[in-house]
Amino acid sequence: MERLNAWNTYDLEMQKACNELAADYMSFMDRSKTERECIDFFVNEAEKNGYTELSRAIAEKKRLRPGDGVYSVWMNKSMALFRIGEQPLEEGMNILGAHIDSPRLDIKQNPLFEEGGFAMLDTHYYGGIKKYQYVTLPLAIHGVVVKKNGETVILNIGEDEDDPVFFISDLLVHLSQEQLKKPAAEVIEGEALDLIVGNKPLIIDANTKAGREGKEPSGKNAVRDAVMAILKQNYDMDEADFESAELEVVPAGRAREAGFDRSMVLCYAQDDRVCAYPSFRALMETGLTARTACTLLVDKEEIGSVGATGMRSRFFENALAEVMELCGQYSELGLRRALASSCMLSADVCSAFDPGYPSCFEAKNTAYLGRGLVITKFTGSKGKLGCNDANAEYTAHLRGLFEEAGVLTQTAEIGRVDAGGGGTIAYILALYGMNVIDSGVPVLSMHSPWEATSKADIYEALRGYKTFLEKAGLRG
Ligand code: MN
Ligand code: MN
Repeated sequence: MERLNAWNTYDLEMQKACNELAADYMSFMDRSKTERECIDFFVNEAEKNGYTELSRAIAEKKRLRPGDGVYSVWMNKSMALFRIGEQPLEEGMNILGAHIDSPRLDIKQNPLFEEGGFAMLDTHYYGGIKKYQYVTLPLAIHGVVVKKNGETVILNIGEDEDDPVFFISDLLVHLSQEQLKKPAAEVIEGEALDLIVGNKPLIIDANTKAGREGKEPSGKNAVRDAVMAILKQNYDMDEADFESAELEVVPAGRAREAGFDRSMVLCYAQDDRVCAYPSFRALMETGLTARTACTLLVDKEEIGSVGATGMRSRFFENALAEVMELCGQYSELGLRRALASSCMLSADVCSAFDPGYPSCFEAKNTAYLGRGLVITKFTGSKGKLGCNDANAEYTAHLRGLFEEAGVLTQTAEIGRVDAGGGGTIAYILALYGMNVIDSGVPVLSMHSPWEATSKADIYEALRGYKTFLEKAGLRG
């Protein structure tokens, strides 16, 4: 069956709302290139919307009542938000879950070296990337350096117009005869992703023969020393402080509208912030509902949902237990019932049809930019391996809801059978026995430095997520 192009269905008012949402989304993206930056943004907005931080609510012995908003942040990189509903929690919640980590290059713990007159930082890539896409791009460094005394220095270099940027070199084409014969996976190897961060030696005072910091300049590593001197001066950072730093190298630059018609958004890290943002917005725009509404914004999906801040961590379950306690509803059995009776949309992106590579997609079961929110019954690879294959009853329940609300949806698989595959956090929440399905925005050039999406699909995602939070309610 054919799906409508969303733009054909919009009147002027909807086009305006769609464009306004895209503008808000792009401004969020410009400020949120790391998990921590996302959490900062969401915490500020949640507070503005009257949400209370969970540990504060616990300390104040606050009694949570229907309509109250509460949120919990875990290690500055994951977050669960709840809007308490009218029904007891053990009757189930409606949960939106998106991830806020994205593929990138992480700076190693002992990264700084000098070679050929350049100061360089060694990196280790995070998540699935085509390494050759990261050379000769303007790159920015975002992250934190935590010192031994616990003080945190926040870095964000490369985004302002007058900030310097960083880059990784690539061999000039004139000398690339051998390189160009290599398979794409080997053209640029992981250890070759060294970030160039300086080319000027520590300046020596002609009279004292000492360096700018009064130190003897070491001739051999003078460029490297100069970079370290700048880091010391600007951030009071010693070389050993890299050990306890989380510095992410990401494409520099702002989100842009794309196309003559400005119908698309081109920017870094849309997988999965293009679902995280509408998941958050949907909750903020949801008032009192029958079931408790919840949005999860989690870390580490791109490396298997591991670690204390990944979806496989118990932080969400623990936060829910605390919330139930504050509602006067906690019991071990009540907690289990609440989880098992919930409905979830795993709000993650789906691969969009790419006209440059039609053979990798099966046209009938592929997501297209501009045709609405994607419902992905299953992901996985090699015969649905490792996926959450959603229940037909649940899929039917959602079809009915979205149709009634006039939300435009399309169904899709990640790609042609046996072309490859992928996963999301869906299977982890399904472990509790709740109904879960993947549902998100289609993305073109996924996991590349500049991913593309359709403004219309972001708008349909927000409309769909709001409908879901307000109206879903099928128990397993
Ligand atoms: Mn994703
Ligand atoms: Mn991904």
